[in-house]
Amino acid sequence: MAVPFRRTSKTAKRQRRTHFKLQVPGMVECPNCGEMKLAHRVCKECGTYKGKEVVSK
Ligand SMILES: [Zn+2]
Repeated sequence: MAVPFRRTSKTAKRQRRTHFKLQVPGMVECPNCGEMKLAHRVCKECGTYKGKEVVSK
């Protein structure tokens, strides 16, 4: 529910914002090349998924 901004203390606001992360969630490290990739998707750097090359580069 919306609350007037002065009703939320600086500390409460800052504590809530500690959960705002820079990285997009759902990103995992590729086991083949170590690049960050989207989970459950083919790695766009090396074209592999589950250890097999799916997309040729
Ligand atoms: Zn990769």
